[in-house]
Amino acid sequence: MKQSIQLKKRRSPITPPVPEPATPIPDLTSFNDTADLFKDRNAIVHQGSALYLEDRLECGLLNGATVAIKDNIAIKGWPLSCASHVLDNFHSPYHSTVVSRILNEGGVIVAKTNHDEFAMGSSSEHSVFGAAKHPFDPERVPGGSSGGSATSVALGITEFALGSDTGGSVRQPAAFCGVYGLKPTYGRVSRYGLVAFASSFDQIGPFARNTAGIAKCLQVIAGHDPRDTTSAEKPIPKYSERLDGKLPKRIGVPWSFLKEGVDPEIIEKVKQLESFLRDNGCQVEEIQLPHAKYSIASYYVLTNAEASSNLARYDGVRYGLSNRCDNLQSMYNDSRSDGFGDEVKRRIMLGTYVLSSGYYDAYFRKGQQVRRLIRDDFIDVFNDVDIILLPTSPTPAFRLGEHIDDPISMYLSDIFTTPISLAGVPAMSIPVGQTSADLPIGLQLVANFFQEETILRLSHFIEQNFSTD
Ligand code: GLN
Repeated sequence: MKQSIQLKKRRSPITPPVPEPATPIPDLTSFNDTADLFKDRNAIVHQGSALYLEDRLECGLLNGATVAIKDNIAIKGWPLSCASHVLDNFHSPYHSTVVSRILNEGGVIVAKTNHDEFAMGSSSEHSVFGAAKHPFDPERVPGGSSGGSATSVALGITEFALGSDTGGSVRQPAAFCGVYGLKPTYGRVSRYGLVAFASSFDQIGPFARNTAGIAKCLQVIAGHDPRDTTSAEKPIPKYSERLDGKLPKRIGVPWSFLKEGVDPEIIEKVKQLESFLRDNGCQVEEIQLPHAKYSIASYYVLTNAEASSNLARYDGVRYGLSNRCDNLQSMYNDSRSDGFGDEVKRRIMLGTYVLSSGYYDAYFRKGQQVRRLIRDDFIDVFNDVDIILLPTSPTPAFRLGEHIDDPISMYLSDIFTTPISLAGVPAMSIPVGQTSADLPIGLQLVANFFQEETILRLSHFIEQNFSTD
C-alpha cells in the first residue's frame, strides 16, 4: 500500500545576517560604475554589500583588491545558487575556505558571478539567470562554466575573480575572454565550501589580467585545509617573489593530438610561441599523449557518475526549492524535476546509468582505467619536459546558441582541457593575441604535479616578451 506522509511546514532557509560592513568603507565607486555599465553581459548575479575585514585591508597580500566569486562557492549569509532553480533562496551558513583566506589577506568581495548550472557546461548559457555574454562581443559566449568570473576580470569590473575548474571551466573562459586563468594541481586548493560537481576533479582557480595577479591569488588561496581531506600538506612556494627565476628549458608540444578540428589561427599561435621559446633558449620538442584522445569519453563517464551521486542531496528537504506534495516520493520527484535544468538532468541520468549494475564494469570501471592511462601519459612526458604547450580550446569564443542543442559538439570543445583534469596536473590559460576577427586566443601551459611555480615563471616571461600582435 502506498504510504502517505504528512509533511511539516518547511522552515525558511537559514539566512545568517550579512556581517556589518566595517568602516572605513573602501571606495567602490569604480566597481559600481563598471558593474552598471556592463549589466547586459549578465556576468554578475548577486551584488552584496562589500565584504572585507577592516584590519586586513592595508596589510594583506590582496590589499583592498576587489574580487568576484563564482556562485557555486560559499560566502556566509550570501545566496549560493549554483545558477540553479533547485537552490532558490538558499543562503550559505558558512564561508568557504578560499573566501576566508581572501578576506584574511585584505580582499574585498563584491559580487557573485554567473555560470553554467552546477558548473556543467562550456558556454555559461545553462543558467537560471539566463546566458552570460562575451565581454567584447555580446553575440558570443564568454565560455564556461565560469564565464561570469572571466568577464568580470576582462572588463575590469573586479581585479580578480574565482571560478571552479572540473574539466576546463577556468581555463576555457579565460581563453575566450583574453585573461589569465589557472587550474591548480588537484589538492593544492581547499574545496571546502565549493559545491561539489565531480569531487575527484573539482578545483577552485583564480582569474586575473596578468601573471602576477594569478601568483598573488594562488598564494592566498593555496594550502592545506583540515576541512578538506583531499587538500595536500605541501609547502606553498612564494609564487609572487619567484616570477623572475630560472626559466623552464624543456617544452613539449603534443602535435599529433592537435591534428584535427583546431582553428588554423590557433595552430599558428602555437607555432609562433614555439619559435619564440626556441629563440629564447628553450628546447622545444614534439611529445606524445597517446591516450588523450579518449579524454572526452572518460571525462564525461566519470564526472557524470560523480555528479549523479553528489546531486542526490537536492531532494526538496534540505536545500532551496521544495515542491511539497501529499507524499514523500512525489516531493522528491517534483522538486528535482522542477529544480534542475535540462543539462543537469541529462548528466544525472547518464551518471546513474553508468553506475548501474550491469553497466558499471563496461562504463565506470573502464572510464577509471582510461583515466589512469591518461595520467600515466603525463607522468611519462614530465620525465622529459618541464612544460607542455597546447591550445586551451580548439576554437575561439563561439556564438550564443551555436552548440546549445547539440551536447556532443559542446562536449568536444573540452578536448584540450579534460586530459589535464583527468590527470590532476596544473595548467594555466594565457592570452597570446587575437584572431583576425579580434577574438582572444588562449594557450595552455601545463606542468607536473604541484609545479605551478614553473607555469607562472614561463607565463610571466611570455607576458613580458612575446609580441601578441
Ligand atoms: N565543460 C566541462 C563540463 O561541462 C567542464 C566543466 C567544469 O570544468 N566545471 O563538464
